[in-house]
Amino acid sequence: MSFDYDLFVIGGGSGGVRAARVAAAGGAKVALAEEDRYGGTCVIRGCVPKKLMVFASEYSSMIEDGRAYGWDLENKGFDWSHFKGKLHAELDRLEGIYRNLLKNSGVESFDARAKLADAHTVELSDGTQKTAKHILIATGGRPFVPQFPGSDLAITSNEMFHLETLPESILIVGGGYIASEFAGIMNGLGVKTTQYYRGAQILRGFDDEARGLVAQEMIQSGIDLKLGTNVLEMRREGDKIWVKATNGDENLFDHVMFATGRKANADDLGLEALCIERGKGGEIKVDQYSQTAVPSVYAIGDVTDRVNLTPVAIREGMAFVETVFNGNPTSPDHELIPTAIFTQPEMGTIGLSEEEAAEQETIEVYATSFKPMQQSFAGRAQRVLMKLIVSQATRKVLGCHIVAPGAGEMIQLAGIAVKMGATKEDFDRTVAVHPTMSEELVTLKTPVRVV
Ligand code: NDP
Repeated sequence: MSFDYDLFVIGGGSGGVRAARVAAAGGAKVALAEEDRYGGTCVIRGCVPKKLMVFASEYSSMIEDGRAYGWDLENKGFDWSHFKGKLHAELDRLEGIYRNLLKNSGVESFDARAKLADAHTVELSDGTQKTAKHILIATGGRPFVPQFPGSDLAITSNEMFHLETLPESILIVGGGYIASEFAGIMNGLGVKTTQYYRGAQILRGFDDEARGLVAQEMIQSGIDLKLGTNVLEMRREGDKIWVKATNGDENLFDHVMFATGRKANADDLGLEALCIERGKGGEIKVDQYSQTAVPSVYAIGDVTDRVNLTPVAIREGMAFVETVFNGNPTSPDHELIPTAIFTQPEMGTIGLSEEEAAEQETIEVYATSFKPMQQSFAGRAQRVLMKLIVSQATRKVLGCHIVAPGAGEMIQLAGIAVKMGATKEDFDRTVAVHPTMSEELVTLKTPVRVV
């Protein structure tokens, strides 16, 4: 049987674009459909604009610190419309790059929504049908807002990049990556920022000591973090939003942003008719080669809800091409993934938290918390944390947790050593780079505790 294409990819985000390009580069005839903007969540409404907003927000404290170092600096405030204009021009530029990458690698792209008509047929929103030997679903995810009275007044991270004006006040709900990162951004931009988290400490699942320090520093920098608190009800009052909280508080905010998790974009894709199984959260179920229950249909990235990070979706896309087009069955490696949370201060982490490791075996915990030179000189009380979790039996470093300015950059490199199976003694043999914050990782002498 002959098909229109060897591969049809649904979704033009990080994972889908990479898989399409790599398959086409290897000689496959490839098409891709995207209903929205090319680049997907990461480029258009996630990692990239978020990080540019983190950079923008960090200048407020840099100006203060510059003054402490003797610079004669005047802070006349932040011009949101100036920044927003540049931000969107940059996103347009990046989207153009993504479109060109596809074009230059010979991928035919369709600006349309696509769904499965059968195991080898995709139907586009204009009604045309295309056949393909293989179909790859890479449709990503979207923000989830729970339903309660007034929940329609909530905005999500999608809208944060399009605000008409910078609000005077904002409530951010949630305690995950997105909520905690946006709390830092808004606070740094001078917005009165309140964060509600329903649990006992934000960033659940990460090392307790590390997330405790992040929370403490966020509060220190002016964020009104309310733990054990959730939203009960909201309604519009003039141009503000009235919010009643579970702790009885009633407050007015200009905006309320919910960052209460994300859901897979797997509805109306025609999956049910093909008996492609979905999990409890709506994600597409796949095996270790990203294959669904229908052999010609694969899925990668956030729509499969494995590890929801752009570089992981890219790896899953590459492993898919290796498996299907190069005859070399390859599973994406989901072990020991370094990651950074762009809170202020940043957290960089790889491997097991102290709590997870201690459940598995006897561990030595090496940690130091100190005032970094640059900020300390400027008179800030801010502290950083460098922490290693070491197996007592094998001496392997099981986890590395850094809370510090630039922690994302540091963990990328420490991550190589941990991924290679470095022992504590390997770290110790490495000469310190002085004076830096990360040199502490190779000079930790005695365990602070054995658990
Ligand atoms: P997360 O799953 O990380 O966090 C969701 C948060 O919302 C949790 O604190 C959760 O609380 C809370 N929550 C869930 N449901 C409710 C509810 N009904 N009422 C109140 N609170 C609720 O999701 P995010 O949206 O922050 O991020 C999604 C994913 O995106 C991340 O998991 C990550 O993979 C990725 N991401 C990565 C980034 C990076 O690498 N720097 C940056 C941004 C996103 P509880 O803990 O109690 O369940």
